[in-house]
Order: sequence, then structure tokens, then C-alpha cells
Amino acid sequence: MLYCEYCKVKVAGLHKKCPLCHCNLSGESQDDLPQYPMIKSEISKVYFIFKLMKLAAISACVVSVLINYISYKQTMWSAFVIAGLACGWLLMTIGIKRKANLIKLLQWELYITCGLAALWDYFTGWHRWSIEFVLPCSCIACMVSIAILSAILKKQPSEYLIYLNLVNILGFVPIVFFMLGWLQIELPSAICVGCSFLFLTGIVLFKRHAAYGEIKKRLHV
Ligand SMILES: [Zn+2]
Repeated sequence: MLYCEYCKVKVAGLHKKCPLCHCNLSGESQDDLPQYPMIKSEISKVYFIFKLMKLAAISACVVSVLINYISYKQTMWSAFVIAGLACGWLLMTIGIKRKANLIKLLQWELYITCGLAALWDYFTGWHRWSIEFVLPCSCIACMVSIAILSAILKKQPSEYLIYLNLVNILGFVPIVFFMLGWLQIELPSAICVGCSFLFLTGIVLFKRHAAYGEIKKRLHV
């Protein structure tokens, strides 16, 4: 063990001078530990996989455009491949960036999924599958997931009620579509509105004060 005659202290690690008085040390270092801990410069595996996936997605885009160009028959189907990959990429990037708050992430993914589905539906002939199936099914899945996650993760009402309320509001939107006569298949929307009503009743019965306080806090009233 290294020793400083002036400070009367033992010094661990590999040192030439005393860290306190900068005088020469006596004795020999017994451990071969460096003065400062080594910082591993390993590249994060997740980051590397992310980059690989980026490369694979770009390659898929390039290949599809090439095949489309070589075998061109009046349809630009490669645009759909690129748009599909872009949608998947957007959902994945948001998932990775917002993974710290799972409940908030669920809510964001719900809005983006519904928005993208509506765009896809609109640009592929407006068959209304986005409002007949995607919106109600996603809303039900999101409400149930938030309820289960908040129970498993033992979240405080302030951490999930605002998101549950926002998803709940979206769950009542199929009523508007029904009134506009846009729905040919009504069952998923009816189940969604029913679930939203049940969740709203649950919030009013059990978490009324917390929900009201949270809304007041968020709206600065
Ligand atoms: Zn010293």
C-alpha cells in the first residue's frame, strides 16, 4: 500500500504523488487498479440494433422502388411499401423515445395509430375500416391496458387519470360517426362507446376527486 509521510495516510490505487499534498509517496502499490475507474466505451447494443433496422428499412425501400421501376405496370405500389415502413418507423421511434412513461406512450401510440389508419384508409379509397374497426378496437385496448398497467405498476391517480380521461373522450367519438351515418358495421363502435361509458362511470364513482383535481391542475383553473 502506498503511504504519504506528510499526511500520514494510506493511498489506494496507482498514484505517483499524494492526492492531498502532491508529495512523493513511499511504499509500493499492492493493487493494480488504475487511478480512475475505466469507462467502458462499448457501443450500446440497442443503438446498434436500431441502426441495423434503419439500414434494413432503407434497403427495403430502395429494393421495392427498383423492382417497381423494372416491372412498372401503371401502379406505384412501392409508394405504399415506403409509406407502410415510414408509419412503422414512426410508431417504433416514439415507442423508444417515450418508453419511460408507458401509460403516456400508450396514449400517443393510440392517437398516431388512429391518425395513420385514417390517412391510409382515405388514400386507399375510404372503405372506412379505420373508423369502423381501428379506432374502436384501439380505444378499447388502450383503456384496458392503461387500467391494467396502472394497477400492476401501482401508479398514483395523478400519473394515469389524465391519460385515461383523454382516451375515454376519444372512445365516445364513434357516436359522432354514427350520427353522421358513416358506419356500416356498428358493433365494434358500440362496444367501444359502452366500454368508455363504463370507464367514465368507474372514474366518477371511485376517482372523482382525483380526476377533478387533475383536470383543474392541467387546465390551470
Ligand atoms: Zn500527502
